[in-house]
Parts: sequence; C-alpha cells; structure tokens
Amino acid sequence: MNTNTVRELIIPAGLETERFLLGAGALQRVPELLKSLFPGKRPWIIGDDNTWEAAGKKLYQILEDAGLAPLPPYLFPGEPELHGDDKYIPELAELMQESLVPVAVGGGTINDLVKRASFVAGIRYLCIPTACSVDGFTSYGAALLKDGFKQTLPCPAPLGIAADTEVLNHAPSKMFASGYADLAAKIPAGADWIIADELGIEPIREDVWELVQKDLRAWLEAPENQEGIFLGLAATGYSMQLYRESRPASGTEHLFAHALEMEGLHASHGFKVALGTLAATAMYEWLFRQTPDEIKSKMPAPRSAAERANEVKELLKAGCYGENTAQIAMGKHPEPEECTARREQILEHWDQLKKRTKERLIPFDTLREMFRHTGAPSCCADLGITQEHAEHTILVAQLIRNRYTITDVLDDLGLLREAAKYAAERIAK
Ligand SMILES: [Zn+2]
Repeated sequence: MNTNTVRELIIPAGLETERFLLGAGALQRVPELLKSLFPGKRPWIIGDDNTWEAAGKKLYQILEDAGLAPLPPYLFPGEPELHGDDKYIPELAELMQESLVPVAVGGGTINDLVKRASFVAGIRYLCIPTACSVDGFTSYGAALLKDGFKQTLPCPAPLGIAADTEVLNHAPSKMFASGYADLAAKIPAGADWIIADELGIEPIREDVWELVQKDLRAWLEAPENQEGIFLGLAATGYSMQLYRESRPASGTEHLFAHALEMEGLHASHGFKVALGTLAATAMYEWLFRQTPDEIKSKMPAPRSAAERANEVKELLKAGCYGENTAQIAMGKHPEPEECTARREQILEHWDQLKKRTKERLIPFDTLREMFRHTGAPSCCADLGITQEHAEHTILVAQLIRNRYTITDVLDDLGLLREAAKYAAERIAK
C-alpha cells in the first residue's frame, strides 16, 4: 500500500490531541503512531460488527504484523444501531488497564463511548474514524445519554487520530450526509455568534473563529472531497477544545436538534441539525428583509414575567425537555425595561447585524440544494415530522440554553412566533 498520500496534520497549539494523520493508507501508519504516543502499551480495538468489517479487522492484522500484540477486540453488535448511552461506560472503563491503549474504530458513537470510558479509567486513547459523520472526533467531551437526557460529559479528545480516506470513502452515504450537515451547521452557528458579538454579549474569539469559519465555504462547496469535509469537522472539534464550550460550532440549529432529540426522534445527529440549519437560515432571511421601521411597527409590548412563565409552561408541557429547562428559560427572560433597552440596541445595530450575518450565511435555497445533493434532509417530511411540530421545536429551541442566538433576537423583539411560523412553512416541503 502506498502511504505517501498520508499527511501529518499540524495541530494548533494548546490542544489535547498530539498527532493526526489523514489520507489514503493511514491505517498502515497506526503502529508508528502507537509507538510514538503510547510506547510499550498493547492496543485494544473497540468497535462494532460493522466497523470491524470496515477497518477493524484490517487494522488488527496490521498491528499483529507490526508485533504490537493487540488484545482480542471488544465489539458491540452491529444491529440494532448502537446508541451513545452512559450505561456502557462502567464495564468498558473497568476493562481499560494502564497497560493497554484503547483504539476506537468507528463513527461518532463508538468514539464518544471510548472517549468517556478512557477518561473514567484515567488513560488516553487513539481514534480511528470510519465515517465523516460528526465533529466529535476531535472535540472535548462525549455526547451520551445519561439519566434520560443527552449530555456532553467531560473527557479529553483523543491523543492521536488516524483517518484513512479509503475507509471514509466506503462509509454509508447517509453517514457522510450527516457529517456534511453537521459542518454546514457552522454557517448559521457562526451568524449566531456574530449577533452575540455585535451586541456585546459574547465577543468572537478570533483564533477560534478562524479555525472553523475561514475555509468553511470552500469545504462545503466541494462535498465530493471527503478529506476536506473531514478536515472541517476536525477543525470544528479543535475549536471546541480551545474554547471549552460548543459556541464556535453550535447555535440555533443545534438547539433545534437537541429539542428533537429530547423528544426521542430517531435520526442521526447531523440529520436533525440539517433541518435546524434550514430553519435558522429561514429566520435570518425573514428578519433582515424588514426595515427597522417595519419591525418597530410590529413589536408588541414586552411581556411580564408571569405572562412569560405561562408561555414557557405551555411550550414545555410534553415534559420531556429536562428538569431545569423552565428555570433556564425564565433565567434569560428580560424584565420589561431590560427588554426595551435590548430592542433599542438591536435596532441601533440593525445595519451591522444585517450586513455581517448576511456575509456569513448561505441563502436558504442554495443551502437546501446542497443538502439535497448530498442526501441530507431538506424538509420536515425527510425527518418524519409535521410543519406544526417544527414550529413548536423552534420555540422550544429558544428556551433550552442560555446562548444568545437569532431566536433570542426575535424573542426580544416579540417576533419569534411569527418568524417560527414562517420558517416552519419554508421547511415543510
Ligand atoms: Zn453537531
């Protein structure tokens, strides 16, 4: 196998990941990676029946040939689909001894399970992605179901990564579409950060911004280049490692996806995010095609805390959105005077908000074409939800997290319901 096409990527300073190989034939370089990062330790492959076929078996042979004496692999069943659940962690962590190095061979779920279990066991691990499916390969933290809710549990990123494009290219196309959408989500997420920056709520940190946003459009415009998409997802993971928060990679569209997730909707992370990305984009377009005078003429009087509490209660009545959500929602509710001041600030910054977010966003129709082209969901029906459901989800997305986004701008202006209705109509079919 020719491994000349494998590149050693330069990792920004200050990260938990030390080495990252990317390219066709990267699997062949895993022994070298292990020797440099984990001298004297025996590799232990963790995957599932599918990822074993896709890369695990071959890697096992490579490790054996290199004299690294791999331990027998730990394989989850390939069917039914494995879910990232904290319940698997105690057993996995128990099996992780100081003398071995866990080698996660798989997509986002396997990686998250191994990431968290290694942390619990107090050791580091190596990541071998088998699909460009999420941005979590290089990020800090693991998204796992715990106590009934998906949470990001703390744990360091892998010490090393070897992404073999020959493996990635053979992954199911749905997984690629999912990763593509997770990368496209950084467009509205970036616009949300611009808003928070412009209004002095959360300033943009330039080095982190650049990592994600600088080449983002180029990556998205070349979906046939899996290496580019993987680089984009990796850069996003780095940005979260550096920022210690998901702000650089997640805005309205991720909150929309989280709300669907809490309702128990079965679809990949990226697929839920895809619909959220379209919904967020539609709301930006709706808001900024109006003039400040038009907005002013529509704004209702600010709500009292009691009125808001009733609304929140009604929106969360399904009871599946987490114990503290009503509290979070009320915690960010501005008193009428604060709300008036915020409205004035938004209207004062209108031109800048409009200009800066427009420069970053991809128009709704273009974005939808990009999703259709890659096989990501482009309307509610693709996820099996109704227009009304999507509209409700947008309203819930505004409640669940204290992170200022387009939904908060709209809510401060008293126009979120109208915008949500419009966005849901646009993504309905
Ligand atoms: Zn994501």
